[in-house]
Amino acid sequence: MAFDIEMIKAVYAKYPERIAAARKTVGKPLTLAEKILYAHLWEGNATETYARGKSYVDFAPDRVAMQDATAQMALLQFMQAGKKKVAVPSTVHCDHLILAQKGAKQDLRDSLTASGEVFNFLESVSNKYGIGFWKPGAGIIHQVVIENYAFPGGMMIGTDSHTVNAGGLGMVAIGVGGADAVDVMAGMAWELKFPKLIGVKLTGKMNGWTSAKDVILKVAGILTVKGGTGCIVEYFGEGAKSLSATGKGTICNMGAEIGATTSTFGYDDSMARYLKSTGREDVALLADGIKEHLTGDDEVYSNPESYFDQVIEIDLSTLEPHINGPFTPDRATPVSQIRAEAEKNDWPTKVEWGLIGSCTNSSYEDLARASSIAQQAIDKKLKTKADFGINPGSEQVRFTADRDGLLRIFENLDATIFTNACGPCIGQWARTGADKQEKNTIVHSFNRNFSKRADGNPNTHAFVTSPEMVAAIAISGDLGFNPLTDTLLNEDGVEVKLDPPVGDELPEKGFAVEDNGYQEPALDGSGVEVIVNVDSKRLQLLEPFEPWNGHNITGAKLLIKAFGKCTTDHISMAGPWLRFRGHLDNISDNCLIGAVNAFNEQTNSVKSQLTGEYGPVPATARGYKAAGVPTIVVGDHNYGEGSSREHAAMEPRHLGVKAVLVKSFARIHETNLKKQGMLGLTFANEADYDKVKEDDTINFLDLDQFAPEKPLAIEFVHSDGSKDVILANHSYNDAQIGWFKAGSALNLIKTEQKK
Ligand code: SF4
Repeated sequence: MAFDIEMIKAVYAKYPERIAAARKTVGKPLTLAEKILYAHLWEGNATETYARGKSYVDFAPDRVAMQDATAQMALLQFMQAGKKKVAVPSTVHCDHLILAQKGAKQDLRDSLTASGEVFNFLESVSNKYGIGFWKPGAGIIHQVVIENYAFPGGMMIGTDSHTVNAGGLGMVAIGVGGADAVDVMAGMAWELKFPKLIGVKLTGKMNGWTSAKDVILKVAGILTVKGGTGCIVEYFGEGAKSLSATGKGTICNMGAEIGATTSTFGYDDSMARYLKSTGREDVALLADGIKEHLTGDDEVYSNPESYFDQVIEIDLSTLEPHINGPFTPDRATPVSQIRAEAEKNDWPTKVEWGLIGSCTNSSYEDLARASSIAQQAIDKKLKTKADFGINPGSEQVRFTADRDGLLRIFENLDATIFTNACGPCIGQWARTGADKQEKNTIVHSFNRNFSKRADGNPNTHAFVTSPEMVAAIAISGDLGFNPLTDTLLNEDGVEVKLDPPVGDELPEKGFAVEDNGYQEPALDGSGVEVIVNVDSKRLQLLEPFEPWNGHNITGAKLLIKAFGKCTTDHISMAGPWLRFRGHLDNISDNCLIGAVNAFNEQTNSVKSQLTGEYGPVPATARGYKAAGVPTIVVGDHNYGEGSSREHAAMEPRHLGVKAVLVKSFARIHETNLKKQGMLGLTFANEADYDKVKEDDTINFLDLDQFAPEKPLAIEFVHSDGSKDVILANHSYNDAQIGWFKAGSALNLIKTEQKK
């Protein structure tokens, strides 16, 4: 089943009536995002206008995708739901658990040895429950999805924050936690707060060194890592049409870095070309048949301020290549200013590595354009000063790029071709010398550059840029190098200049692949046995979380007051910890070890009020849990930004944390907390963050009256006996309060199932 054409036909068959109903109900022209959302209402035709940023709405997504690191927990939960088969087309993709070290072949073999138990588990669960399985080496989830499953006007969810990549083919594709995926796979509605809408008008046409990546690097600079929170970003205008489908995918992909719910583009010729080129001419024909519904209404795009909550305009003709970083993807610097910025901020300008790949930039076009720079280096007698690593996005991309000689060009520059997998993007990179923790610089075409993400070294300054810029900068070995203006000295001592990149959007001879790595599930999986060894260090069957006891939480202690950025990487680190993603107890040993303790500004060092001693966060939490003392976590702004991993919610839950109280949340993480039966709360008054002291005892005063829209009162008793009562806001609706009371959303599903 490469893709489900009957499902797409069924979705499109509903479109005309559903859009007509939505237009009548809303009473004005519709954006594309609204069309897709209203066309996917769980209840059918629209009967009310939903308030953006306020209304919780039930949707019926068309499909689900899961990657190996998050699929383990998602499927462990699905196994508890008591279903025989998934209710919507779903796929599992093995891409995160593959280390980049020696090169594709050896690394893949090593990963099959190291993680074979997990891959076998995922394969057997997929086989049993009717889930398509993409084997290790088949490719990165989002590249595989855009090549095989994404379709204009569709709606999907995925257990990975970069699921949003499928917006490049005109979907509303949203990253979720595994518990949300379980809802949809179990045939239930999926709930989302109706998003606000940001319109980005693209005018002009890109030229020279500018690429699609620079659009989103620029947008990230404007909106910052939280500017898109709760919003769908819709791109439109002549400039949008001039971008390739995979270029659009790049832009949508990094919408995750501005916190956006998702991003999308209207159906156009580039999408039709991509669908045809990837063997889906029938989808393109179907889309052509309803194309007026697969883009925003003309009136919306000619008068965007009246229809979007915020509008940004970017002229592609004058857009400069950008280099974002270090340590955060929204620190945007145009290439012409990067040398000055580096000097001002004391960033190392010697570039050690250039990495091309990740779901953001691993398409055929990306490799083609970057290889054109690599070829120039060879032709102009330049040697790369930095090491070079390439992760193709899928076996189809790799095979085609190999056939067309693109990979050979990189290899001629001594690049290492890694597996078609995430690799360094998720810390699966055995980088020689990283343990010395030396200050250094790398450039990559990925999406995220948080501290320690690629190689575990907190002193690695990682900069995000386009693949062609990665190539140029790696060749020069100089972060300050501006290929638009600067020259390089070749081995003959001659100054040479790199010409702008060129490269086919799609392979001239079409895509080719021998074995794409896909495995169809059994038609009847009832006889398939799923084995989880009780002694396994990697997998552990789940025990349901305890329901709420109906009483106020009292006598709680502060586990940690996190200071500054606290992403899901800080809460549940990736890298070597990925191997425990299927074992809740073992992975809980990384709980919050990257978060900075506001009281001593150290990581993984918090005070236990039981002993008065400072110790690692997980051990301290286990101490409280063993003593029956509840704990809470306090955090700063945009707490839980980054990935969709629900481990960041399940681990504290497992270790006895009852509530997470922060200045603001990233959307997916807030939902994950709710789904796992935790209290995710925000300070009604942000300044109250300062009132929380290290030795506080915390009492909830009115949790027994927990209700939508009603803030909760929490008492902080300080060590000197004084008290502060603060108000905490929350966004729980009635159903979500039900999850809290039941102990988790899954507990509720199981109860429903038994009825
Ligand atoms: Fe993989 Fe990186 Fe993409 Fe996540 S962001 S799916 S780790 S390539």
